[in-house]
Amino acid sequence: MREDVAAAARILAAQGVVDAFGHVSMRHPARKDRYLMACAKAPALVRPEDIVEYDLDSNALDAGSRASFLERFIHGEIYKARGDVGAVVHSHSPSVVPFGLVDAPMQAMFHNAAFLAAGVPVFDIREKFGATDMLVGNTAKGVALTEVMGRRDVVLMRAHGSVACGPSLQAAVFRAVYTEVNARIQHWTNALGHGARPAALDSEEGRLADAVNEKAALRAWDLWRSQVRF
Ligand SMILES: [Zn+2]
Repeated sequence: MREDVAAAARILAAQGVVDAFGHVSMRHPARKDRYLMACAKAPALVRPEDIVEYDLDSNALDAGSRASFLERFIHGEIYKARGDVGAVVHSHSPSVVPFGLVDAPMQAMFHNAAFLAAGVPVFDIREKFGATDMLVGNTAKGVALTEVMGRRDVVLMRAHGSVACGPSLQAAVFRAVYTEVNARIQHWTNALGHGARPAALDSEEGRLADAVNEKAALRAWDLWRSQVRF
């Protein structure tokens, strides 16, 4: 279990979703009121022994002297609000950030990103909290983010990054990777079509294609997991 969470952090780094920053967590399979996430360190360096257990108020239970990520409240509040979520990824992946800065909604450009066809809301921390350091560093900010996300699986954060969720660790990692890939494709499509409205997946196509993605996520995980060496 801890090996898989550590592997997920390294996979996200290898896929360009996270760099020195960003984090992934998994709901504890035996304790639904807890989650597992690395202590505060760069994802590419995470080892199984770095994984810490948290309660859903994001208190570390076995961290010892290890520091926690400032934005762990993103994870705790999503697990509290969404019983269907089994894993969460938070990243600042660069192709995604522009969609939180201008009025250009992210759309599902291809089948692997079908989960985006349900719509991608943007959380603007300024609306409720005024000028801040932009970080979701407490419970109230985590709750506000979760409210904007609603039943969606991906939410963007203005001038910051994004969050991707899934029922499993494999699904959340898949969605985080393909949210970044989709963003790149949308930029290219926009340039190629000179800003014309893209023929993106509609919500029904998104629903049908995302059902197929459940298996695709497992195949991708098998590949990416095989490439991780601790
Ligand atoms: Zn962040």
